[in-house]
Parts: sequence; structure tokens; C-alpha cells
Amino acid sequence: MKERKLWGAEEFWGLGFEFDPQWLLTDQQKELQSKLIELARTTLRTNAVESDKGLIFPRKNFEALASLGLLGLIVPKELGGQGENHTCAAMVVETIARYGCASTAMCYTMHLSAVAASLLGMKAQPSAAIESILSRLDKEVLVGTLSYSDPETGSHFWYPVSSKAERLEDSWKLLKKASWTTSGGFADWYVIQTTSPDFAGNYSDLSCFLVYKDEVKTDPSQWDGLGLRGNQSGGLVVDNVIVPLDRLVGPVGDGARSNDEAVDPFFLLCSSACWNGIALGLIDITKRHTTTRKHVDVGMRVCDYPTIQDYVGEAIIDTNASRSFVFQMARAMDNTTGNCDWSMHNDISALPRSALLHWMWQVKFLAAKNVAHVGDKMLHACGGTGFKPALGIERYLRDGKAGWVMGPTNEVIRQFVGKSALLGFESLDYWNQVVNERAIDNELKKMDLESKRALAERLMSEVASKSSDSTTSAQPSQAKALATVS
Ligand SMILES: Cc1cc2nc3c(=O)[nH]c(=O)nc-3n(C[C@H](O)[C@H](O)[C@H](O)COP(=O)(O)OP(=O)(O)OC[C@H]3O[C@@H](n4cnc5c(N)ncnc54)[C@H](O)[C@@H]3O)c2cc1C
Repeated sequence: MKERKLWGAEEFWGLGFEFDPQWLLTDQQKELQSKLIELARTTLRTNAVESDKGLIFPRKNFEALASLGLLGLIVPKELGGQGENHTCAAMVVETIARYGCASTAMCYTMHLSAVAASLLGMKAQPSAAIESILSRLDKEVLVGTLSYSDPETGSHFWYPVSSKAERLEDSWKLLKKASWTTSGGFADWYVIQTTSPDFAGNYSDLSCFLVYKDEVKTDPSQWDGLGLRGNQSGGLVVDNVIVPLDRLVGPVGDGARSNDEAVDPFFLLCSSACWNGIALGLIDITKRHTTTRKHVDVGMRVCDYPTIQDYVGEAIIDTNASRSFVFQMARAMDNTTGNCDWSMHNDISALPRSALLHWMWQVKFLAAKNVAHVGDKMLHACGGTGFKPALGIERYLRDGKAGWVMGPTNEVIRQFVGKSALLGFESLDYWNQVVNERAIDNELKKMDLESKRALAERLMSEVASKSSDSTTSAQPSQAKALATVS
């Protein structure tokens, strides 16, 4: 029997389930999806307008999500969560973005990514502080987030040059400067990344820490943005705050592993689901508008023009290709992790998601590219009415534009994929450690003997002064880990 998509008591006014890959979901996941669509109708969607207009953090929406136990979606059942898998996480984020609120979907993406980092970390390094947070997420509506991006390194968020951690006798002293933090100042807990305590110049030596709301300094009044305006991704400082030892997330030096195995896979999966949800939301609105708007002179509705049918057809095909990619990779991660069973990470060498990371880059690139295109085309299909905020196209379009610029940006991703395919993964050089001898040789060819002598003398004097300092002589080893996030 055909599944009916309801909007309250009525048939849903956008695309029906016949254009959704429902066969990927378990009965329990489908039930959750229906509850979430209803929650979007009654609560999330209305709050989205308010969040966008007033730059308001969607706390009310998080309270609603907590009522369905969604803050602990991927937390194991023994810690009070739902023990759900990657497919379910992607479905939930897509559903929130499509029918409800894209800002909430992005804040929730960062929450899930912070939960994933915490779960991975506590398997390798038990922590009472992390366990306590994870077991109270829904009961106390404890919103988490990631604070990684550094003001000095922009979208290269794996390179926290402005941050550091120091080991004191029975505590850590943390300095974190972040240029962007979703839910900054509104989240209850933050996973931050710094260089490791005892850092000796190797920027791949990263560590993660848990900090609480009262330990961060933010200024939400400074936040503004084209879209995702409720997500409050402002700057943040943890100003030499001293925290207990159990706030370390994973072992010292676990940052790169955590990026590859938890933070990036969840961020890339869920943010891509968010971009797809926005694209679908745009198509839904376009269907409703173009099937009701009439042109009296020719006696046609806008949807009767073949041009409009082509726009919608292409948008559905492209968006479903992107969704297929998201759900294929969610399924791949489910298969390789026993449906997101965190106990496999008692073995620190188990890195099932890291092996798929270059696929996740591709997923994000496609979803972010698609939503920008679909936004433009659905605006064209709705005409001038789409240009006015009341229809909703305008907000979804602005929200979707964040996809391309969020780190890893689409410029960076396509280069990662092309470069690794052509030159090998080791060529990616996240932490600026590999010398490009071809470039050096090429530049040297341009120099005359006098310039070469001057350069040689400069280098020899540098070698002489540094060779006396044994601490700076060691070159950082080439890290094998692959890093990316937002
Ligand atoms: C809505 C939103 C929410 C965010 N939330 C978070 C969050 O929760 N946590 C967090 O840590 N960060 C977050 N970020 C930050 C985000 O991940 C990036 O760090 C940020 O967008 C970078 O902005 P920038 O101006 O520094 O860009 P820049 O890094 O200065 O980039 C400028 C341009 O240079 C290009 N570029 C950069 N490097 C290369 C390269 N190697 N090759 C080719 N081109 C390159 C970029 O693609 C871009 O076109 C968020 C950003 C947005 C927009």
C-alpha cells in the first residue's frame, strides 16, 4: 500500500514519499521520521522564521527535539541514548532541514559531531565528565558543539595555531581562539581542539577537550550572516581556563584520529543531509506555489509550462542523486561499524570511518554544489513571488549558500580529491610539512650565481644558529592521518 505523507490531517503539499528512499529506513526509523515531520509542522518551521529574522538561537527547537530523545540519537542505549546508526542520523538531519528549520539542522549537525567525538574519545580514555554529559543530553537539553576553526588559518580548521593546552599537576590549562563556532555562547558544552600539551612544533599533534558554557567567552551580538542566521556561529575564546584532567577527550595527541574517525565523518554526513534537506524544502515550496498560481490570460497554472516541469524534474533528479550518495555512505559506515557500535573503538586502532573519508569529501561537495543550484532554479521557477521572503524560497536559498563555504570548502575538497587521486594521499600535506623540491629546483633555476651565494649564506647562518638549539632541530614527522571538518 502507498505510504501517505501527512501534514497534520491533510496530505503533505510538497513531494510525497514516492520521491523519498523510504526503503532504506527501518519501521522504527520511519516512525521517528513521521513524528519529526509533525514536530516540524507544529513547532520547528514557525520558529525557523523567528530565528532567521531575529538571529535567534533555536533553543525552543532543541527542546522539541529533546522531547523525541534526539539529542542522544547516536548515544548507546546503556548511556540512555537511542543507539541509532548513521542512516538514521542522516534521515533526522535531512528531515529537520526540509520540513522544519535549517539553522536547527546545522546546530544539530554540530551537536551530533561533538557527541561522536566524545563517544570515540571516552572509549580510548574513560572520562566521568564526558559520560555524565552524554547520559543527560535529552533530560536536561544539553546542546553540544564543535569549536575548531582558527582565526589565523580560516577554513583550514585542522590547524589551530592560536590555541594551546598546558599540562599542570592535576589539571589542564586551555587557550582556545575560534573564529566560528555554531551555537557559540548558546551551547551547553563544547569540544575544542588545540595543539597538544607538550607541543613541540608538529601541528598534527592535536588534542581535544570538553569545556562548559561558563568557561567560554562569546559575544553573540557580533553574529550576523547571509543564511543559517539562527546558528549563531560567532567567535569564541577559552581564556587560559583550568579544567580537571577528565576533560581530555580521548588520549593526548588523539586530535587527528578523532577528526578522521568521528568529527569529519559525522560532520560531512550530516551537513550534506542538511544541504539535501534544504534542496528538498525548496522543491516542496515550488510545487505548492506553481501548482496554485494561475495566469488568467492563457488559462494555465505556472506548473503547466514545460519549462517549469523541466526545472523541477532536474532538481529532483540531482537532489536524489545527492541523497543516494549520502545514504550510500551512511550505509557503508553502518556496515563497517556494526550499525554505529561504539564498543568497537575499545580497540584504538579500529578506524572504519577513516578509510571512507575521501568518499565523505565527495558527498559534501556534491550536496553543497547541488543546493546552491537548486536554490537558484526554484527561485526562477517561482518568479518574483519567490524573491519575496513570504514564500520561503528566499530563506532556504540563503541558508543553502552556507554549504559551499563551510570548511572543508568546496574549493578545498575538490582539490583534496583530485590531488590525492593524481599524486597520492600523502601529497595532501595538511600540516605544511612536505617540502616541494620541484618548486625549489624551479625557483633556483631563475637565480644567478650571486643570488644563489647570498641564499646559501643566509641558509648556512640559519643552520648554524639553529643547530645549537636541539629542541628546534627535529622536523615533525609526516602525519598519516587525514583531517577535515568544519
Ligand atoms: C554557517 C557557518 C557555520 C560554521 N560553524 C562552524 C563550527 O561550528 N565550528 C567551526 O570550527 N567552524 C565553523 N565554521 C567555519 C568554517 O568551517 C570555515 O572555517 C569558515 O567558513 C572559513 O571562512 P574564512 O573566511 O576564514 O575562509 P578562508 O579560509 O579565508 O577561505 C577563503 C577562500 O579561500 C579558499 N581556500 C582556502 N584554502 C584553499 C586551498 N588550500 N586551496 C584553494 N582554495 C582555498 C576557500 O575555499 C575560499 O574560497 C562555520 C562557517 C559557517 C559559514
